[in-house]
Amino acid sequence: MTDPTRLTLAEARDALRARKLSAGELTRAHLGAVEKARALNAYIVETPEKALAMAEASDARLARGEAGPLEGLPIGVKDLYATEGVHTQACSHILDGFKPRYESTVTSQLWRDGAVMLGKLNMDEFAMGSANETSYYGPVASPWLPPNRDADWARAALADPGKKGLLTPGGSSGGSASAVAAHLCLAATASDTGGSIRQPAAFTGTVGIKPTYGRCSRWGMVAFASSLDQAGPIARTTRDCAIMLGSMAGHDPRDATSVDAPVPDYEAAVGRSIKGLRIGIPREYRIDGMPAEIEALWSRGVEWLRAAGAEIVDISLPHTRHALPAYYIVAPAEASSNLARYDGVRYGLRVPGRDIADMYEQTRRAGFGAEVRRRVMIGTYVLSAGYYDAYYVRAQKIRTLIKQDFEKVYADGVDAILTPATPSAAFGIGEKGSADPVEMYLNDVFTVTVNMAGLPGIAVPAGLSGDGLPLGLQIIGRPFGEETLFSVAEVIEQSAGRSPLPARWW
Ligand code: GLN
Repeated sequence: MTDPTRLTLAEARDALRARKLSAGELTRAHLGAVEKARALNAYIVETPEKALAMAEASDARLARGEAGPLEGLPIGVKDLYATEGVHTQACSHILDGFKPRYESTVTSQLWRDGAVMLGKLNMDEFAMGSANETSYYGPVASPWLPPNRDADWARAALADPGKKGLLTPGGSSGGSASAVAAHLCLAATASDTGGSIRQPAAFTGTVGIKPTYGRCSRWGMVAFASSLDQAGPIARTTRDCAIMLGSMAGHDPRDATSVDAPVPDYEAAVGRSIKGLRIGIPREYRIDGMPAEIEALWSRGVEWLRAAGAEIVDISLPHTRHALPAYYIVAPAEASSNLARYDGVRYGLRVPGRDIADMYEQTRRAGFGAEVRRRVMIGTYVLSAGYYDAYYVRAQKIRTLIKQDFEKVYADGVDAILTPATPSAAFGIGEKGSADPVEMYLNDVFTVTVNMAGLPGIAVPAGLSGDGLPLGLQIIGRPFGEETLFSVAEVIEQSAGRSPLPARWW
């Protein structure tokens, strides 16, 4: 068989079941690809022994005809998920040496269903960022070449730890997106607090879904902003995302916000007709300064859905423009509270001090990077007695208004909403946010509303920019409307035609 890392997850699953390929072969091919791609910095920890042992167990189950839904399929895990006995640091220095004695619910469900773990994936520190540049382990390079650059130039740039001039895969799930796009796993886990699944998927020509808040358990995921965080997959096709989510989703008594509702057969929704669905086009997403090619992409998306029988309606989500500022109050507020636990006593790093207060200060100063410190300071400020009403309470009120905007539209019979996923194609590593962090925050303009409202959203590749880089469209659904998202995303994927992912130059 030709290189099995080129298969989609669904194709690999079918090949394993038909015994045309073994889990051992598939896993070894991926481990080889991961080893050759170390310079991309997508994986921060490789777990080859674990992977081979899991693959062997899968082959035994496949031989007995006891295959689980993901039997023998090698995947990568974002460093945010607790993995028993394996490095789990959310790419922060403050969690140095932390190896949990427990497994997150989402990853344990993946292993229950037969998936094989290849290693832990790079990410922004505590998932704070949009370019995977805040990681303690350094930036991740996208496998997509920058415009007008050749492979020789890119290989030289890759040798430099700063990776200047190469493209970012986005963030915070940059390792996940890069690994999936570079064929270093069949799919990966990711997480999304304000866009961290959808933006990296859009930047790398992959598919990523953030499910409805409560659809997946957050137990064993390192917390960033608990009322916004959700687990989800990144994969190369809509179908592969649907298969992954089927294993990741489900009720968990250990997470009080996880919803006790049956998990539908998501894969069955892929390819289902969208005839008669009402798709809303929100006028407020036509933002000033939006590049013409994003506008054109969006219009093409509208035409594809219309051609597939959907009814297109103009809608208004009037509070959209307040979403980003409100998010950058709510998310840091919750982060400052969640990150209070890293004090040098219970986990990871400890820097000695004169007394206990000094030890806390020294540890937190050395353990947190600049972006995390900024968020802790903003969060502490907006929650402080004198400013709580002026900032935090107001942001929560705006959050309610944003949620109501969506509720009104859905009550009027809209089934899903189509928007661009990001305001631009991928930018260069180090290009944004060094002088002004808000420049980086603006990346999330189309994605944060979805987290603020707790809704599901999927990003699907829809074409290439003038520079030949991937661009994505986003579909936003009703609460627990993931099946509709998979049906609509599949129409876009089929209409756009899957653009080939980059061939190996690294
Ligand atoms: N880029 C956003 C932030 O920095 C979202 C991150 C995320 O979804 N984890 O907060």
